[in-house]
Parts: sequence; C-alpha cells; structure tokens
Amino acid sequence: MTDLPPNPALGTDPRISGGRVTIDLPALAANYRLLCRTAAPARVAGVVKANAYGLGIDVVAPVLWREGCRTFFVALPSEGVALRQILPDAEIYVLAGLFGPESAGAYREAELLPVLNDLADISLWEAFGWDGETAPRPCAIHVDTGMNRLGLTPDQALAFLSENAITGALSPRLVMSHLACGDETRSPMNAEQLHRFQAVASRFSGVESSLANSAGLFLDPAFHFDLVRPGIALYGGRPSDGPAANPMRPVVTVEARVVQVREVPAGGVVSYGGTHSLTRDSRVAVVAAGYADGLHRALSGAGVPLREPVAAGGEAWVQGRRVPIVGRVTMDLTLLDVTELGADAVGHGDHVEFFGHNIPLDEAAAAAGTISYELLTSIGRRYHRRVLRSHQDAVE
Ligand SMILES: *Cc1c(COP(=O)(O)O)cnc(C)c1O
Repeated sequence: MTDLPPNPALGTDPRISGGRVTIDLPALAANYRLLCRTAAPARVAGVVKANAYGLGIDVVAPVLWREGCRTFFVALPSEGVALRQILPDAEIYVLAGLFGPESAGAYREAELLPVLNDLADISLWEAFGWDGETAPRPCAIHVDTGMNRLGLTPDQALAFLSENAITGALSPRLVMSHLACGDETRSPMNAEQLHRFQAVASRFSGVESSLANSAGLFLDPAFHFDLVRPGIALYGGRPSDGPAANPMRPVVTVEARVVQVREVPAGGVVSYGGTHSLTRDSRVAVVAAGYADGLHRALSGAGVPLREPVAAGGEAWVQGRRVPIVGRVTMDLTLLDVTELGADAVGHGDHVEFFGHNIPLDEAAAAAGTISYELLTSIGRRYHRRVLRSHQDAVE
C-alpha cells in the first residue's frame, strides 16, 4: 500500500468556482469577546476540532490567539500537530486521548496535552514517548458524569488521584467533563452532571477544571469552573434552545452561483424522481452547489425521508427575498423557485445565499433535519473561500 499525498484543494479560483464561502473574522472575534464577558472570570478556550468546524483552522486559530485565547481543544492528535504549526506557543489539548504507544511520541514532539479518557490512556501516557525523561507528564483527566461517551468513572478518577499522589507519574493540568444535554436548558441532566463533576473536581486540588461547552456557558455561572470550551458559538451557531434570540453573530456565509434560469409550465416536475410538481407556471433557478458541497440532500424540497421530517425543505436568499428549494438537491446542482421575483431579477452568475447573514445557520440546519454543527462541518471543498478581515472589507 502507498500513502497518498494530501488532496490539493479543489477549484478555489472565484472565476471558475460554483460558489463561495465567506468567513467574517471580525464577527468571529466579537463572538470570542462576548463569550469571554459571559464566562468571566473563567478563561475561554477555543474548540477548533474538525478544521475549526469546517471554517479553516488556519484562519480561525490566529484570530482567537490575537483576541487573547491561549488554550485550544482539537479532537485528534493529527489536528493538534497541524495547530502546533500555526500557534507555536498555544496550550493544545487533544480530546481523543492516546491511540497507542506510537502516538505518545507524537504528542511529546508537538507538545500536545492528551485528554486521558480511560485507564489504558493513563498507562500509555505513563509509559511511552518520554525517552527516559522523569518529569511528571502533563495531561488532562476526563471524567464521565453521565454522557457515557468518553471519560473515567468518578471512582476511577479518584483512584487515579490517590495512586498518582504516590507515583507522581502524571501532572494533571485540567480535570474536565462534558454535558450531554447542555443545549436543553430545562433538562435535569445538567444539574446531575454538575453535581457529579463538582464532587470529583473539588478533589483535584490545584488543577483547573472545565465542564461547559457553548451551551453550558450560557446555562449558569455554576457551570463555568476555571475554563469553558465553546466551539459552535464561536462560529455563530445558536448555543441553546429556548425563546431567546441567538446572541452570537453569524460568521459563515455559503453562496452558490446561478447557472441557468428556466421557465417551467404548470404541471411540470423538477429534479430526480419528479417528486415536486409545479402548480403554476414557474421560473426555476438552477444553482451550482449540491450535496457534494454540503447542501444536504435532506434539504430537498420533497421526497427524502428524514429521521425528523420537516414539512418544507430549505430556502435560499435571492435578491432580498427568501425562495424555496424545489425538488431534490442533487450532487452538484440545486433548484430554486424564483417565480415570485421579477422576470429579470436573477440571472446567470448571480450568487444566492444558503445560509449566513440572511438565512440563519440554525434555520438552514433545521430544514435539513440536522444541526448547525453538521452543516458547517460538511461545507464542501469546491468553494472559493474568502475572509473578511475588517468591517471595511467590502462584500461585493
Ligand atoms: C466539541 C466539544 C466541545 C465544544 O462543543 P460546542 O457545543 O461546539 O460548544 C467541548 N467539549 C468537548 C469535549 C467537545 O467534544
């Protein structure tokens, strides 16, 4: 077997791309500052796993650093190594823990801090990758408080503490846990996890503690501890349910270009399966982005079974109005009903927005039967990518 070189980015030339992704860096910075104000005096880390939720860790991480963020979380050691190239002095925690003896050396080389999730992780970090060095090895200890995904049980964590007090092998810098239902503000699970975490964290004296993700940060100051770990809120996602407006500013705008506008008489059907038939003479705009670009097929106007079906599919923002997606989203193309717009209102090459400043990310996600996280992390690689660096940067 041969290892392949990294896949070069596809079509990012604006003249020949089907669409564009715009990342608003001042909005990202403003979101970080809002989270800092909300969490103070707790410190705010940046969660930049999965290529900063699809936005690009290379553009996101330096902005957070400039705003004073010094602690970062990634999911995988490979992401940690990539982040180390971008931020030589950051404190980088890796949520996945160790994969095996061979990964310990990579952690050491890039000075990554593993989040140790079970007893196997603890033994690996005690035994490997340190070539005879005897200083206690820094790490985070993850305690499961009810989600049953990653983490030691509270009993295991306390047993570790007693043993480590004798051996002195590890030097935990952080004790952390993760909320299962933080975005459901009324879930009794939040208080239960809080109490379980308090009981364990209070035993780790002199060690920082962390429980809250974006949603937890907005629950109650009792959830803040020393360090909060927001991801989605940085990128403009709505942190929790409830009637309050999303306090975060939109950061990502996804647009695609119109490649054809066609007149379809009443009774015509559109797209694969002919699942959508037009009840009036209609004008249909065909746009050059589809599910290969992250426009989930579940956004289809009709005909795709969903786990949590939504009545209508997604919408796009065209010339100051919302218009519906009609028929099935296809791999490279999506169809919009633009009948309500004037005859020449939309034409070849125009950009239409699928989410961003006009269509909220969370609404677009809900229309696809999914969540903001999945929509962002599935943004495809065929877009022209651009960043707004200041409020003065014009959006043409
Ligand atoms: C992804 C993740 C976060 C960030 O969660 P958001 O909901 O995006 O704020 C925080 N902590 C852990 C353990 C995570 O896996």
